[in-house]
Amino acid sequence: MTTDTLEAAERLAAVRDAMGRAARLTGRTADDINLIAVSKTQGADAIRPLIGAGQRVFGENRVQEAQAKWPALREEYPDLTLHLVGQLQSNKAADAVALFDTIHSLDRPSLLNALAKAMDAADRRIPCHIQVNIGAEEQKGGCAIAEVPALIKAARAADIPLLGLMCVPPADIEPAPFFALLAKMAREEGLARLSMGMSGDYETAIMLGATDIRVGTALFGARPSPARPLPASGRGMIRNSRAG
Ligand SMILES: *Cc1c(COP(=O)(O)O)cnc(C)c1O
Repeated sequence: MTTDTLEAAERLAAVRDAMGRAARLTGRTADDINLIAVSKTQGADAIRPLIGAGQRVFGENRVQEAQAKWPALREEYPDLTLHLVGQLQSNKAADAVALFDTIHSLDRPSLLNALAKAMDAADRRIPCHIQVNIGAEEQKGGCAIAEVPALIKAARAADIPLLGLMCVPPADIEPAPFFALLAKMAREEGLARLSMGMSGDYETAIMLGATDIRVGTALFGARPSPARPLPASGRGMIRNSRAG
């Protein structure tokens, strides 16, 4: 095993241990929960060690980035599955249907129509989660809570396989009440799966019934590219600290 693979194996084992502890509180085991390794911004060199450590389920948040990274890896490892966890524009629906095995971000009627059309054209049904804007945040993707029942009904009418509900709770406040609310909504709608929980809160999410957790940082370490461009001096500092 290379150092990278060893490190990836250790991170994966630590996450699976924590998953197991949380799962046991709800009468489940780590194997009952689908761990999606969110590899956005990570290159193939960072992804391969995790594949080497046995991880086979990955998630991306951008169609274009996934198109550039995954076809080659999937050819090499035919048992990989790929989840789209980020916002999807309707004009990328066909690309998403061609590339992904599961879509977590169905959140509006226009996207539903685009996905139904793309699935018909490709003769391929992609299971979806309905993303709920659980904290009613202005800037955030996700269907408004009040509109979820109608969207579920429309998805069923369009023959889109529905797995469950997905959410990203508001940052910097206790996520548990939002996870509990999502779980209640899924129960009421007769949906079996819950895509909730990220690096900072997946144990809480599992205790509240998550079946699918989306974990990036805890498996890969900090993401390589900063979200915002930094001033030149700041960039230098980051390079130096990485090199050390
Ligand atoms: C980036 C991302 C994650 C993973 O976040 P981490 O905090 O790095 O675990 C999960 N879900 C979505 C929708 C994301 O965009």
